Amino acid sequence: MCNNHACGCTKCWKPEGASFSLVAVVSRDNLSVTAYEDKLEIVDASATIQRHACTGCGVHMYGRIENENHPFHGLDFIHTELSKESGWAVPEFAAFVSSVIESGVSPDEMDGIRARLSELGLEPYDCLSPTLMDALATHTAKAAGVLSD
Ligand SMILES: [Zn+2]
Repeated sequence: MCNNHACGCTKCWKPEGASFSLVAVVSRDNLSVTAYEDKLEIVDASATIQRHACTGCGVHMYGRIENENHPFHGLDFIHTELSKESGWAVPEFAAFVSSVIESGVSPDEMDGIRARLSELGLEPYDCLSPTLMDALATHTAKAAGVLSD
C-alpha cells in the first residue's frame, strides 16, 4: 500500500509558491540520514510529527513520530520536493486540502483547486485518505476497548 500524498496542512514545509507539499511515507527502518545530520534540527519537539529541518535553508527533510502509542508510529514522512532522484512512488491523494485556506488561499479558489487535484488523479480529502482515517479510528477503538485485537 502506498500512502504517498500531497499535503495542504500548515505544518508541512512547502517550496516557495506551492500550496501543497509532497510527502512520501516509509517505515522508519528505511530512513537514514547519510550526510550533514548536524545541520538538522527538530522544528517543534512537542508536535506529533517531529519535523527535521535544515538549519541552513529551512527545508524540512523528514518527519518522524516518536510517540510509540501513535497509530502511525514506525512511519516516517519524507519531503521529496527537492529530490533529484527519480523513482519515487507517485502521490495517490491530496490530504488536508481545505487547510490551504489557512495558508492564505482564497476560499473562492477551492473549487478550482479540488478540480485540478482530481484531474491529476489526486483525490482531494480534507483530512487523510479513508484508508488512513480508518487506521487511526481502528487504533483508537482498540485502545478504548471498543474493538478487540
Ligand atoms: Zn502536512
